[in-house]
Amino acid sequence: MEFSGTIDDRPAECPKCRRGDFTDAPSCAHCGYTMRGVRLYDPKRFTWMALLFSGLVPLYMAAANWGQVGETRRKRLLLAGGIAGFAVLFVVLALLPEIPLFGKMLGHLINYPIGMMLRDTQRPLYRAGLKLGAAQASTAKGILFGFGLILCTLVVPVGAAIVYEDMQLGSADKLFEERKFDAAAQVYQRVLRTDPENAEVAYRYGVCHFVMQHWDEAGRAFEAVLKTETNHAATYALLAHVRSVQERPAEARDLAAKARAIEPGIFSSLAIPDPGAESGN
Ligand SMILES: [Zn+2]
Repeated sequence: MEFSGTIDDRPAECPKCRRGDFTDAPSCAHCGYTMRGVRLYDPKRFTWMALLFSGLVPLYMAAANWGQVGETRRKRLLLAGGIAGFAVLFVVLALLPEIPLFGKMLGHLINYPIGMMLRDTQRPLYRAGLKLGAAQASTAKGILFGFGLILCTLVVPVGAAIVYEDMQLGSADKLFEERKFDAAAQVYQRVLRTDPENAEVAYRYGVCHFVMQHWDEAGRAFEAVLKTETNHAATYALLAHVRSVQERPAEARDLAAKARAIEPGIFSSLAIPDPGAESGN
């Protein structure tokens, strides 16, 4: 009988004795349970709330409803399961940068069945609540607390992402030391895909290609570094060398001058020729 007809047709049930006779409302005719003083979130809009914000918003509200009728264990299980489940979901989505749109859309759509399931399991409780004297809890407040739950859940994957990036950088640096520049560059590139503003990683990525004499790719990487790090002598010096190899002498001289202005001995410490000195002016 669970899903015959619309969900609204399902009878309300007493949260204590699980029967549905409310002839003596506002207390249960079987066990005398009353819900006066209890505030319940209305599950009516759980589905759109899940889609608009996150499944964690109606999940918070459902957990709060269970807590209001004394189902503390159910409340804790729902919260713990929600936090763990969404943390895993966020991590998986963060690790799928190769298919961002598809992955993120799929991840987002998971909220819909979650909202629907929560709505359907909460409906009998809410309907009984209204008959047994419960009041409606503020939806706005529920959304606000739901956002708090989202923040808590985000802390877990953000921490995991930092640890993961750190591990990747460690392995890339090791590859670099072993002079496996191609493999190192690939790992740096992967990190840059999720952390594109990281100038330090962009610099190391550029150095890999510089060593492999991939001048165009190295040039692009160093340009990206200089967008955020405008005072990095080594980047100016390396890019000056790239421009000189690419036969763009004016740019090379200009960049070399900037490098020397920041750190006069930069070219000798990098053991590369100074395009400014080469040109003989
Ligand atoms: Zn009852």
